[in-house]
Amino acid sequence: MQITRDLFNDVMVPNYNPSEVIPVRAKGSRVWDQNDNEFIDFAGGIAVNCLGHCHPALVKALKDQGEKIWHLSNVMTNEPALRLAQKMVEATFAEKVYFANSGAEANEAALKLARRVALDNHGPEKSQIIAFNKGFHGRTFFTVTVGGQAAYSDGFGPKPGDIVHCDYNDIDAFAALINDNTCAVMMEPLQGEGGIISPSDEFVKAVRKLCTDHNALLIFDEVQTGVGRTGALYAYEDLAVVPDILTTAKALGGGFPIGAMITRSDIAAHLKIGTHGSTYGGNPLACAVAEAAFDTVNTAQVLNGVKQREQLFRDGLAAINEKHNVFSEVRGKGLLIGAVLNEQYQGRARDFLIASLNNGLMNLVAGANVIRFTPSLVIPLEDITQGLARFEKAVGDVVNAK
Ligand SMILES: *Cc1c(COP(=O)(O)O)cnc(C)c1O
Repeated sequence: MQITRDLFNDVMVPNYNPSEVIPVRAKGSRVWDQNDNEFIDFAGGIAVNCLGHCHPALVKALKDQGEKIWHLSNVMTNEPALRLAQKMVEATFAEKVYFANSGAEANEAALKLARRVALDNHGPEKSQIIAFNKGFHGRTFFTVTVGGQAAYSDGFGPKPGDIVHCDYNDIDAFAALINDNTCAVMMEPLQGEGGIISPSDEFVKAVRKLCTDHNALLIFDEVQTGVGRTGALYAYEDLAVVPDILTTAKALGGGFPIGAMITRSDIAAHLKIGTHGSTYGGNPLACAVAEAAFDTVNTAQVLNGVKQREQLFRDGLAAINEKHNVFSEVRGKGLLIGAVLNEQYQGRARDFLIASLNNGLMNLVAGANVIRFTPSLVIPLEDITQGLARFEKAVGDVVNAK
């Protein structure tokens, strides 16, 4: 049976619009499609493939666990889940772990937990959730409503209530919103989908302080920033604040679906037996792969390598901009990088994406004006150099086509 892009339109729900390229195999940061065209991968499956494709440590963990036990349900616990949880606890502020299968599910658990803590400790009126415009927290109805783009949550009937938003980095607006009925504040410690926007130190500190003052839990959504992406194991480490709850997914499984919510014991205690759960959450196969990914990323060598690679990207993008004058700014942290299009190229990020693909390069956008790069944390330096050369050609194609 010949599989083509047309089949997508025949058999798939039309909520995505995938490119014509259908990749069939990959190794490290190189990907090949059905016609054996080769691509350099600066996208990493949207910040998921933190160790590239088919990393030997992950393949081994998958194969080894695949011969042992795949699934048990949470009627029993399992060794890979407990080992991974132990490692996450040792490496972070957290004392307890809840496993889910995705970022949205990890956030859903965090929000439900925050509501339950507020109810138990303060009463039903303490239910307000504050989040930020342009924030992204997933696509379940609760998480997408907490996300800062109403367009994503509109059109599905009545929304979960008592959720308000203000601008990221706007301390005054935030201070005006938070009150004693606020139960939680959910934020990304660097907005990813919203356009690669870093928080100011003052903003993060003010949010932390006001949460403490009002007994509101601070939830860091590190689904995109976590597991080495910014050059720290988790981005909060570089921000001089500690959240009460943190969520992690994407890179956690290095390409195998898993998410987690981590928190302190006093908070975790409110998710009593039967209050929340997941059939697949903490699945041994997922946890075995995630354990291998976590072990491999959480080393000085890999984390320092992220900073070295960031510099290569920044230097390369600056040189391209010198030549073609397309970006107003290159921003982000570690290997979560956004090249912001200048006035002349507003709204055209997707054109650069398509031109890149035509030149053998996979990257991403973050909104209509930002080209996003989230490659493997261990992408070979040579692949960065060659990938940037392909990107320069792509930029040239867009510039010359106008
Ligand atoms: C991708 C993302 C999510 C959603 O994760 P899924 O695994 O798609 O549910 C949530 N929050 C942030 C910050 C993300 O980048």
